[in-house]
Amino acid sequence: MESGSSEPTPVLPEPPLDAHPHTHRRQMCASFYCNQCQRDCIPANSQSWCFCNHRYSAHDPQNGFRCTAPRCPCKQFYFHVTSGSWQVRCQCKHKNIEHDVAPPHKCKKPACAGKCQGFQSPWCCNCDHPWTDHQTMFAERDVVSLAERFDINPEGVAPRSTEPTVPRQ
Ligand SMILES: [Zn+2]
Ligand SMILES: [Zn+2]
Ligand SMILES: [Zn+2]
Ligand SMILES: [Zn+2]
Ligand SMILES: [Zn+2]
Ligand SMILES: [Zn+2]
Repeated sequence: MESGSSEPTPVLPEPPLDAHPHTHRRQMCASFYCNQCQRDCIPANSQSWCFCNHRYSAHDPQNGFRCTAPRCPCKQFYFHVTSGSWQVRCQCKHKNIEHDVAPPHKCKKPACAGKCQGFQSPWCCNCDHPWTDHQTMFAERDVVSLAERFDINPEGVAPRSTEPTVPRQ
């Protein structure tokens, strides 16, 4: 006489909530985004440069990525592509710092007065699309860990090729 073979309901192990508890945090991040590929070409890291010549880390995500450097008029982080000592230059051949920090970033050099209506680089990204097809994109993404955030992100440092595509002079 079995009094009911009520086997205990097997307790399934709960799926781990998060294998790495403190490694997933959603955070607004900036990137150099390609409108053609519809993907991030260069995610910003703390060492990335803004057009205003201050680092990404100087910009406040809580305040629309406004630059926190004293007297800097930069209202929003604007991705400035660099690689080592190389950086994108305007088609007028002048650097970002010779252009207005405020959009549309006109060149301040007397020779460019009335000619350069705004910083525009002839540089072609590693995705094979021109600089002009890109924009600074702000999106929420998983921040993997604090350590990685402040680490050099191999993808974020520079375009894959260290040889910049030098515009034909
Ligand atoms: Zn592209
Ligand atoms: Zn700034
Ligand atoms: Zn800035
Ligand atoms: Zn220019
Ligand atoms: Zn110029
Ligand atoms: Zn690209």
